[in-house]
Amino acid sequence: MKIKSVGEFEFIEKVKKRLPKLKNAVLGIGDDCAVIDYTKDKYLLLTTDMLIEDVHFDLSKVSAFKVGGKALAVSLSDIAAMGGIPKYCIISLGVPRNMQVTTLDDFYSGFLKLAEEFDVELIGGDTNASEKFICDVCAVGEVEKKFLIKRSGAKVGDGIFVTGSLGGSIKEKQYEFTPRVKEARILVENFKIHSMIDISDGLSLDLYHVTDSSSVGAVIYDDCIPVSQNASSRKEALSGGEDFELLFTAPADVTEEILSKKLGMPVKKIGEIVQRREGVKIIKEKGKTELKKTGYKHFK
Ligand code: ADP
Ligand code: MG
Repeated sequence: MKIKSVGEFEFIEKVKKRLPKLKNAVLGIGDDCAVIDYTKDKYLLLTTDMLIEDVHFDLSKVSAFKVGGKALAVSLSDIAAMGGIPKYCIISLGVPRNMQVTTLDDFYSGFLKLAEEFDVELIGGDTNASEKFICDVCAVGEVEKKFLIKRSGAKVGDGIFVTGSLGGSIKEKQYEFTPRVKEARILVENFKIHSMIDISDGLSLDLYHVTDSSSVGAVIYDDCIPVSQNASSRKEALSGGEDFELLFTAPADVTEEILSKKLGMPVKKIGEIVQRREGVKIIKEKGKTELKKTGYKHFK
């Protein structure tokens, strides 16, 4: 069977099933980061993300500087989604033989600018020749044990919230987004956040990641979804992906007004967590329908 007919998520599930039960790690495959015991009060967080030329970016359309920033930003976004603080990173590159050194320098300028901004130290990597330019960044972060937020913690009755606005990232935001590290820290330090994920595949798919791993259902309201000015349709806000905003759930008494004020940016309540048997639904003018699992899928 070909991988394209299996799909990314089914394939990862298959790999997960082959693995023995975790002996030492706290959390393995299935969340934004892996979690490892670290000190008495803290966990280590690990995540890796790969960008491939002509799959994720086209160097004739976007500067290597921006690609460098994004290469790190996507990993920082995953650390933020666990409530953590990024600390270190390692980068592996596949470099075409004819690539200009100045292009690589630009890539590093973008990468290191963001590293400085977030106080992340680059501590190693690997360099190889390849057909296309490939960069894989592994980031390491830490989080106080009491602040770790998983995808799997959503509870019936929770409100479902998103930071910022969604859709239209394909235009610019996919390279210029701010990983919500600061915002996630404000959330975990001030509220009882039950579950969290960063929106990389699209609101719809990422909400399913939360409901599936928490064994709950959800209902969201179409007219509450914060659609970006850059989105070409409401549908794009649901399934465009690469928004890198936070999607999280918190007890019913937490309001979007309190959250927006504390975070200093717009936070919208888009729905509620319900019983698993009620499924995942979206309420539109026309009525209630099942939320489509649309979003970014590799191999499809
Ligand atoms: P994210 O979008 O947050 O970066 P992914 O959808 O890439 O997360 O990955 C989901 C989960 O699957 C993560 O826990 C990740 O570590 C794991 N994963 C992805 N690819 C593989 C693989 N080839 N082998 C093992 N685990 C994988
Ligand atoms: Mg993620």
